[in-house]
Amino acid sequence: CGIVAYIGNKNAKSILLQGLEKLEYRGYDSSGIFVVDEHKNGHLFKEKGRIADLKKIIETDTFCTSGIGHTRWATHGRPSVKNAHPHQDSENRFTIVHNGVIENFQELKDTYLADISLTSDTDTEIIVQLISYFVKKEQTNTFEAFKKTISKLKGSYALALIDSNQPDIIYAAKNKSPLLIGKGESFSAVCSDAMAMVQETNQFIELMDGELVTLTRDEIKIETQDGTVIHRTPYTAEINL
Ligand code: GLU
Repeated sequence: CGIVAYIGNKNAKSILLQGLEKLEYRGYDSSGIFVVDEHKNGHLFKEKGRIADLKKIIETDTFCTSGIGHTRWATHGRPSVKNAHPHQDSENRFTIVHNGVIENFQELKDTYLADISLTSDTDTEIIVQLISYFVKKEQTNTFEAFKKTISKLKGSYALALIDSNQPDIIYAAKNKSPLLIGKGESFSAVCSDAMAMVQETNQFIELMDGELVTLTRDEIKIETQDGTVIHRTPYTAEINL
């Protein structure tokens, strides 16, 4: 299981797929990517089995420069296309990938999402439905809704989120699951392991549990749940390709 996200000016599909192949060693039963094109249309591809199987269903006609990807090791819901990540809210506005286990997902579902019909059996879908719920109910922006959702989660997570209304931003957060930021010239990335991005950069920023990140092509903003902004310099990964 692993996650990868990219926002820049290169072909996001191939960078995400290459990243997922590098994360294969972590084990997985299915995989998927979500990319956004220049017209702000999202494209979702998910498949059971190997990354090679995912590659077969990916259309290469549209050029996309941002996206998120996932290899899944099922904990909630059997391995299947519908349970594979990325997951979306009912309006397909928000798209998320998640590694880890949300221990209180049933409670969150009963408290906030009783009226929503879910499309998967995963604990992950609750996160993205909850973000959508808070955006609508509290008329707040995506970051605030993401932050509020995170504050409700119990368990482990590495997350990357895209709002199709603002495809130039990727949001990320972690708790007890590995997650790194990758930084290059005019691109930003997120990955479970530096291996997934060393083809693109050797500059990485560590993340601590409880931190939230907002990434654009040129900027990375890390903050804590109480709004403190964190300045952390990248380190150089010494990995021989
Ligand atoms: N708990 C999530 C699921 O079962 C994520 C599993 C993972 O880390 O791959 O879909």
